[in-house]
Amino acid sequence: MASAPKSDSSPPVAQRPRARPLRDVVDYELLFDCVHCGLCLEACPTYVVTRAEMDSPRGRVYLMKALAEGALDLDADAVRHLDLCLECRGCETACPSGVRYGKLIERAREYVERNVRRPWRERIRNRLIAALFPYPARLRILLTPITAADRLGMRPLIRKLAPAAMRDWLDLIPPRAAPPPMVLAPPSAASAAAPAAVVHHGCVAKVLTNAENLNTEGALAAAGYRVARMGRTVCCGALDLHHGNFARAKQFARANIREFQRLGDAAILSAASGCAAAIAAYGDLLADDPEFAAPAREVSARVADLGTLMLARDYRFTREFRAAVTYHDSCHLAHGLGVREAPRQLLRAIPGVTLIELNEADLCCGSAGSYNLTERAMARELVRRKADNILATGADYVVLGNPGCELQIAAELRRRGAPVRVIHLADFLALAIRGANA
Ligand code: SF4
Ligand code: SF4
Repeated sequence: MASAPKSDSSPPVAQRPRARPLRDVVDYELLFDCVHCGLCLEACPTYVVTRAEMDSPRGRVYLMKALAEGALDLDADAVRHLDLCLECRGCETACPSGVRYGKLIERAREYVERNVRRPWRERIRNRLIAALFPYPARLRILLTPITAADRLGMRPLIRKLAPAAMRDWLDLIPPRAAPPPMVLAPPSAASAAAPAAVVHHGCVAKVLTNAENLNTEGALAAAGYRVARMGRTVCCGALDLHHGNFARAKQFARANIREFQRLGDAAILSAASGCAAAIAAYGDLLADDPEFAAPAREVSARVADLGTLMLARDYRFTREFRAAVTYHDSCHLAHGLGVREAPRQLLRAIPGVTLIELNEADLCCGSAGSYNLTERAMARELVRRKADNILATGADYVVLGNPGCELQIAAELRRRGAPVRVIHLADFLALAIRGANA
């Protein structure tokens, strides 16, 4: 039996004295929905890699229950198995008993962060991620030296000299030499009677892949939607939820809800499926907030996806775009929002596109928010597997619905020198709408 890849830092976590039972933190009753059938095991990326029961959803449910009941200490091993979960929610899709695993693991993470003192390197890394990623201005400053190095053609040298951890991080940043994506014309004024939609521009996406936001708006406008714009956009809170920081996630959620309420009943989209799934869960997140519970539920119910909205308007492509395409299911779109068929249907509707199904299309690529920065070994295993499957299709393009997956898969394909283009659905629709290769 393979063992779980080690943490990037060592020694592992140290427990603070007298950790409280998890029962206080997690919805304990939800643990009993699991009937231990094991049908989720092969859908779990970490189990597929390690074949270890404790790295499976069933094993982690056992673990959470044992912690909740005080039968197990929150020791380094327990934390390791919880840390290794990608929160991809593949297990939710596979589970016939409706176990709400995503909710369980989020609460368990919060418990871990409250009760465990991590080694100093992990603490610094996690604080840096939390201080930089939700703030586009800070992220731009961080990227300035890399942009300058790219201009001087020094990225390969820096990569060679950098420590392994830094090399993986560097690989995720798209090189400046890459051709900029085509961007559709900004939406013009639409009839007030047209259905409205608004795109949450996110934080990391706004800096690294903003064309996806603009093309989501452009495609919606092309399909006849009235595109509204948010005044103030803050992080959706997903990053904090993954890191067990519920307090800040709630602050972000409240700020976004105020802004979404200002925009009436507009459908809410994000080019980052992880952000869309986080907004769709605001109702749960703020269920106990007397002021925000009802607005949060209302906002969550308005979350939609680009493929479904385009199909709802019966959008017809008028130009040919010849390409062999495969489609990767981003976890939070497929498992979080249950959207699988709409993007495929839309791709099949483009004249000239041949859609080739991808083996293990809905198995996580290892990106998972900031997972590829904190769990590099497992993330690399998973992206290698994903790249093997992509290359086996022989496709020219791999289309997906999340910038994190795009950066992760593109980095691996670049390392291999593979000519497959990794592209967000919105950017691909922009090419198809313009008939760019005709
Ligand atoms: S969320 Fe993903 S990694 Fe975590 S247990 Fe479920 S399937 Fe496995
Ligand atoms: S989480 Fe669901 S699929 Fe997995 S063992 Fe429990 S009941 Fe079965």
